[in-house]
Amino acid sequence: MLMTFQPDRLVDSWGRTHNNLRISVTDRCNIRCVYCMPEQVQFMPRAQLLSFEEIERFVQITVPLGIDKVRLTGGEPLVRRNLPTLVEKLAAIPGLLDVGLTTNGILLAPAARALRDAGLKRINISLDTMDATRFERLTRRPGFEQVIEGILAAKEAGFHPVKINAVAMRGETEEDVVPLARFARQHGLELRFIEYMPLDAGHLWEREKVLFASDIMALLTEGIGPLVPSADQDPRAPALDYQYADGGGKVGFIASISRPFCMSCNRIRLTSDGKLRNCLFSLEETDIRALLRGGSPDVEIVEALRNSVASKWEGHEINTARFIQPERLMHSIGG
Ligand code: SAM
Repeated sequence: MLMTFQPDRLVDSWGRTHNNLRISVTDRCNIRCVYCMPEQVQFMPRAQLLSFEEIERFVQITVPLGIDKVRLTGGEPLVRRNLPTLVEKLAAIPGLLDVGLTTNGILLAPAARALRDAGLKRINISLDTMDATRFERLTRRPGFEQVIEGILAAKEAGFHPVKINAVAMRGETEEDVVPLARFARQHGLELRFIEYMPLDAGHLWEREKVLFASDIMALLTEGIGPLVPSADQDPRAPALDYQYADGGGKVGFIASISRPFCMSCNRIRLTSDGKLRNCLFSLEETDIRALLRGGSPDVEIVEALRNSVASKWEGHEINTARFIQPERLMHSIGG
């Protein structure tokens, strides 16, 4: 096939084209997952957060450069007031094919229908355990029942598939693997396990604490049945997609540590205070908010964006001695 050179695209020096923008709408969260956030946290003053209009302008600038997928995240995006209004603004941008949301699900049940009506296409809900007591231990807050209600409400509102994200930690979440899989199979949900990454508050991450995709697959094979690679595996997708051999649905693995997918990374991230990051693990950021608020014309923002993408490194280096954990924690980057 003849490849067409598209000069407007956001291509980095490794030839990776970026079409996927993750936007954090807040660094606040209503839970305190042990792998993500400290118990005591200094949140950003509200004035530092990008307004919906600023986010909309930035997305409008990126779409002609090839961004066609946006995912709203946080912190917990549903603690930001009037989120459906932002979804509606973004969904109306010509050329933007997909607006998605990653949420912990606690505030989802009453909001699912409005989000769907506003044009939200995809939803991922984070849930690490089917045990309410363990939920409270991992998140340091109550809310398990609300998450389950949120998942069911998302289905009811017409989201399909509803994806469940579960962080996998060795010595912590092994016993949650099979119950989560049973729940997902029962309700037709796509479950995805995420290997624990070094973005936690206490810098407590160690390789030994990562429950690898291969370990989870073994637990699923033993507890549920054999898995086979999905026929429709997207080579650019971060998840390794599998399906149950008995036809009972799909399960994915985001194996950031054991099988890094950096060379097919197509993502850039905008933090809630308007800093552009070309990698989850970036040590440098580009201040888009300063440009948006300083009256910069679109061309200057495009140039800043191109420079950021051009300087993207080869990969995250977690598996090397060179790795340096970023100062920003996951809740403040936008997972
Ligand atoms: N509050 C929303 C939620 O819970 O989905 C969105 C933000 S949260 C930071 C996005 C995802 O990142 C969640 O699925 C969460 O479990 C995951 N996450 C947070 N810290 C992580 C870590 N250290 N390693 C792997 N995944 C992590």
